[in-house]
Amino acid sequence: MMKFGGTSMAGTERIRTVASIVKREVDAGNEVAVVVSAMSGETDRLVNFCREASPIYDPAEYDVVVASGEQVTSGLLALSLQALGVPARSWLGWQLPIRTMEAHEKARIDTVETEGLVAAMQAGKVAVIPGFQGLMGDNRVATLGRGGSDTSAVAIAAAIKADRCDIYTDVDGVYTTDPRIVPKAQKLQMVTYEEMLELASVGAKVLQTRSVGLAMKEGVRVQVLSSFVEPGQAPTPGTMIVSDEEIEGSDMERQLITGVAYDKNEAKIILTRVPDKPGAVAHIFGPLADAAINVDMIIQNVGREKGETDVTFTLPRADLARASQILENAKETIGFNRILHDSTIAKISIVGVGMKSHAGVAATMFEALAERGINIEAISTSEIKISVLINEDFTELAVRVLHTAYGLDAEDAA
Ligand code: ASP
Ligand code: MG
Repeated sequence: MMKFGGTSMAGTERIRTVASIVKREVDAGNEVAVVVSAMSGETDRLVNFCREASPIYDPAEYDVVVASGEQVTSGLLALSLQALGVPARSWLGWQLPIRTMEAHEKARIDTVETEGLVAAMQAGKVAVIPGFQGLMGDNRVATLGRGGSDTSAVAIAAAIKADRCDIYTDVDGVYTTDPRIVPKAQKLQMVTYEEMLELASVGAKVLQTRSVGLAMKEGVRVQVLSSFVEPGQAPTPGTMIVSDEEIEGSDMERQLITGVAYDKNEAKIILTRVPDKPGAVAHIFGPLADAAINVDMIIQNVGREKGETDVTFTLPRADLARASQILENAKETIGFNRILHDSTIAKISIVGVGMKSHAGVAATMFEALAERGINIEAISTSEIKISVLINEDFTELAVRVLHTAYGLDAEDAA
């Protein structure tokens, strides 16, 4: 299974390069299915058309419009393959079909029928499948949510029991951190599904998070690699996303920490003088949950003398105004004094399965930040991740300092 993202499909010239990469796999004797995205920028353009047509658009018709971007690129890739002498056919979501469920605009894949697909592949034809689309129970076109063609690729790879799902994009793999901040960041040979999930959830946006969860559940081996190759050159190996066992069985040297990620899309809310009694926090987070606002870190300070406490939490910046309003409305029930907010924060996370079995990982992080005078405003942890909240102005410095502290800097790079 191969998948090509929007930048790889941006224009007929790029699609020709993609066709030549696919041809290499065919020439090597592989049966190949390819999932494609729309040309980069195309889905945004289509979404805007829907908004212009109707401010409160019908999600079912939105799906009809936005699914078209992938129909174009799948046909164009089939044509480009044929032009290279490679037999190819497109298979739209409704033709397989890929059955979806729940809601239009953010549908989930239920089943993938592979009979026609597999027969075509066995007959030596490359199957080209538009990502991002499927078919609802009532036979209407559905789309999977933005970035959803990664999930299409993983789901189809699982259904046809592909040896691998190669996701071609505009970066050549997953790095120890953002190379724009740390030029000494290194490309990772392998990461585990769990690490990739944590990295994706804290800002390393290479794959749609949902696709990683699905790959883990189905045991699909995923590779992230670049489609930007010189004409006639083979793509360089990227990063493999695999199970813990597979990495343990390899001879790869594991670092304590696999990667450092950052996220500048959060905001912080502090409620002062909340009554320190049972039910108080439920009054705060109940209404937010009802409004589908995803709260991330939560800290409740030690109680003050008068049976009061401050409660601090973080949430997506985009939800800050809505959340403040909801809390203001519930002021009586909750019984707080003031609501303070701050959107100049950043969340810095270190991720790695290595920390499961090692002590002192957190201490190293806190000391490294303290040495640079970076104040930690909140901390949260999972089994393989430690996140801290800091002032946004220190993001780059913190990422650099931690990358060095955990020995992740490449030796030979500039
Ligand atoms: N074209 C869709 C989007 O831009 C799906 C994808 O590319 O993954 O969100
Ligand atoms: Mg994408």
